[in-house]
Amino acid sequence: MPTILTPKERMAIPRQTMPEQAPEVRRANFNEVPLGYSDEQAAREAQRCLQCKTPHCVEGCPVNVRIPEFIAKVAEGDGAAALEIIMATNSLPAICGRVCPQESQCEIKCVLAKKGDAVAIGRLERFVADHVRSQLLRGETAPLPATQPRADAPKVALIGSGPSGLACAADLLLAGYNVTMFEALHEPGGVLVYGIPEFRLPKDIVKAEINALLQRGLELMTNAVIGRLFTIDELLQHEGYAAVFVGTGAGTPKFLNIPGENLNGVYSSNEFLTRVNLMKAYLPGSETPVFRGKRVAVFGAGNTAMDSARTALRIGAQEVHIMYRRSRAEMPARAEEIHHAEQEGVQMQFLVNPLEFLGDERGWLKAVRGERMQLGEPDASGRRRPVAIPDSQYETAIDCAIIAIGTESNPLIRQTTTDLPVNKWGYIVTDETGRTTKPGVFAGGDIVTGAATVIEAMGAGKRAAAAIIQHIRALNPAVGGTPSSPEP
Ligand SMILES: Cc1cc2nc3c(=O)[nH]c(=O)nc-3n(C[C@H](O)[C@H](O)[C@H](O)COP(=O)(O)OP(=O)(O)OC[C@H]3O[C@@H](n4cnc5c(N)ncnc54)[C@H](O)[C@@H]3O)c2cc1C
Ligand code: SF4
Repeated sequence: MPTILTPKERMAIPRQTMPEQAPEVRRANFNEVPLGYSDEQAAREAQRCLQCKTPHCVEGCPVNVRIPEFIAKVAEGDGAAALEIIMATNSLPAICGRVCPQESQCEIKCVLAKKGDAVAIGRLERFVADHVRSQLLRGETAPLPATQPRADAPKVALIGSGPSGLACAADLLLAGYNVTMFEALHEPGGVLVYGIPEFRLPKDIVKAEINALLQRGLELMTNAVIGRLFTIDELLQHEGYAAVFVGTGAGTPKFLNIPGENLNGVYSSNEFLTRVNLMKAYLPGSETPVFRGKRVAVFGAGNTAMDSARTALRIGAQEVHIMYRRSRAEMPARAEEIHHAEQEGVQMQFLVNPLEFLGDERGWLKAVRGERMQLGEPDASGRRRPVAIPDSQYETAIDCAIIAIGTESNPLIRQTTTDLPVNKWGYIVTDETGRTTKPGVFAGGDIVTGAATVIEAMGAGKRAAAAIIQHIRALNPAVGGTPSSPEP
């Protein structure tokens, strides 16, 4: 039996530090950086939770995981029960425990954050998912029973296999529907596999989550580009799908649009990370070419920029600079990612703006010409606008540039489904449930919101699954979904 502690005793326990690979070791490998809590550390951290009657942490979670309930089970040493509680609302806990920005979602709302350190909710979520998986591997826990949909159950098509599609699939499978997922790339997972690097999110974990859905009857078609293979209208009218969910993300890179951007050695972060992560260019003997720059500049300061910088270090760069036109305070990346990047030796250059890439006579990048900036009045985003300082131009020698200034929507779906409502940036317009004005078509994740987070995409996928079930029930009440269907 766990010791019963008073609130004062709980609050006296310090937040448990997660062990991680030392910076000088990890900057030369792609193994995961944080190593996870031990059983003792997890139990100790769980004891810090005050089990609040009104748990504000739950409000901060986009999928409303029942946080104090699962933490109580961790404190009791019952990992399987903790996982069941998490999985009731979050089908990808091992992923969310690693990449969710907890510091700005659940943990910022934790009552302990007001006077000190929040309960480490994300680390506990990761512990539970990993702990139960290792028990499963050792045969100590039985897997959840895998039920297969009936052949005559309604068919739903999902376009894209990122977190929005995976979360939508999980709830539709739970409701007993036949779900087919179409993925343009040769591997499922979206940004989880082609964007976020192995050292932050091991791909085996993503594979295990997807395999669990395949065991529950998900039909997956890879190398299947909707808009080319079928249009959305063909899926609905000729292929027998009662509804379509579009979760195609926002994977088209934005460029700086400055001279020299087509020189050899200049990459979009999207291409650079895809080559290294998805095409495994970092493995010895890999056939995927990637240029291993020695002096690398990464433009941008979000998670993608940090991932690109840390990846460049790991494939052999001697110096990596983040070049950002605002200041540290405006950096959009997670604090933990910035901290890890700096620990590994990534250098930050603030208030600098690139004007031109300069090449040698063979067309290879050799330098960037830029100008220095200062912060002016706030812009539409609420952040102070960077303004050029007159006569402040400078030149820095670099042999590789990675542009990580954001992404936008891919035009293929909207070009092939012209009655799908989109806004001026090309993102699909839906109501709060994910329903579009085109009958039977739902959407969610980055293709609706623009680049956001894994858990927000998952939340959108879950809401859309509920709306799809409601839509199908309305069409034919006899075939609606099982009583376990998530209610809209
Ligand atoms: C490098 C990087 C790091 C990030 N780090 C974090 C982080 O630490 N924490 C966090 O919460 N978020 C992070 N994000 C953001 C997060 O990954 C995204 O918000 C999330 O993946 C969006 O999910 P999604 O399902 O909308 O789309 P995606 O994950 O983009 O998946 C969309 C899928 O649709 C497929 N597709 C596109 N068009 C078609 C088509 N026509 N037919 C078939 N398939 C198609 C794509 O190939 C892709 O697999 C990061 C993003 C990047 C790029
Ligand atoms: S707010 Fe913090 S202390 Fe309260 S239940 Fe949530 S995690 Fe526990």
